[in-house]
Amino acid sequence: MTNLVHQLQHQPQSRDGLRVLSASRMKTFTSCHRKYWYNYVEQHPYIKNMGQIRGTSVHKSVEEKFRDIKSGNVQNVDPLLVYDDTFGKEMSNSPGTVFVRSEYDLGMKMVRLYDFQGRIPAQVEQEFILPFPDSENPICMIHGFMDQVYSWGLVDMKTTYAKPKLGVLGYDLQFILYNWAYTQLYGEKPQAVIWQHLRTGEDIIADVQGEEKLRYTIRAVQELLETLKITEWHKEAVGEIPIELFERNPGTACMMCSYRVPCLGRED
Ligand code: SF4
Repeated sequence: MTNLVHQLQHQPQSRDGLRVLSASRMKTFTSCHRKYWYNYVEQHPYIKNMGQIRGTSVHKSVEEKFRDIKSGNVQNVDPLLVYDDTFGKEMSNSPGTVFVRSEYDLGMKMVRLYDFQGRIPAQVEQEFILPFPDSENPICMIHGFMDQVYSWGLVDMKTTYAKPKLGVLGYDLQFILYNWAYTQLYGEKPQAVIWQHLRTGEDIIADVQGEEKLRYTIRAVQELLETLKITEWHKEAVGEIPIELFERNPGTACMMCSYRVPCLGRED
């Protein structure tokens, strides 16, 4: 992350008076307001679980290998070594996380089976920071990274066990925002927005286009902006932000949530 973006995200407003929100921040807020509180308000010490460490390590190895391929130089990046190295560093940064061999092996298998010659992206980790929903009447800036950009669209890699239901994926805020950002950056809609399941090698097309999905996203952004205004008022008036402003949304996502213990009071 550049210093500029880091500064913008940690200040109430950007230089233009517009708040900067990331696509992942939006996704966290809509999935569970309480999780947002832990992550972004309290900034609770974040302990990555094995699945998240595996995901980070796979992403890093694929990214580094594609940068190597696209450099045109003699290729000397071994993605398996990058995976192993990143995994080790991530584990050292997550004291308390118990190493699970099968999780490590699963990520290693994903990298080994990755088809680096099948399709080569025009850009990897494409960063964007754009006025939302447009430059005419912006309500905020949206910042994010797209894993892989192609002339025809974009790909986001996923290392999870489960695949999303198509109907749910169609309302995934991160993917709607990627679709929107691609259109803003390149002047045309992507032909395909792909949720790439690295465990099975399957490409799942996300149906994230259309005015209705953009309106849904605008409403979610407005809700977060409104909530942030209220939190600032509380901070100024009483010096703290009550956790109750951010309600829990208990469900299956709690199983993978890093804040399960402080939130629910128990591990199981
Ligand atoms: S444990 Fe569940 S309810 Fe609590 S913050 Fe995480 S996702 Fe939300």
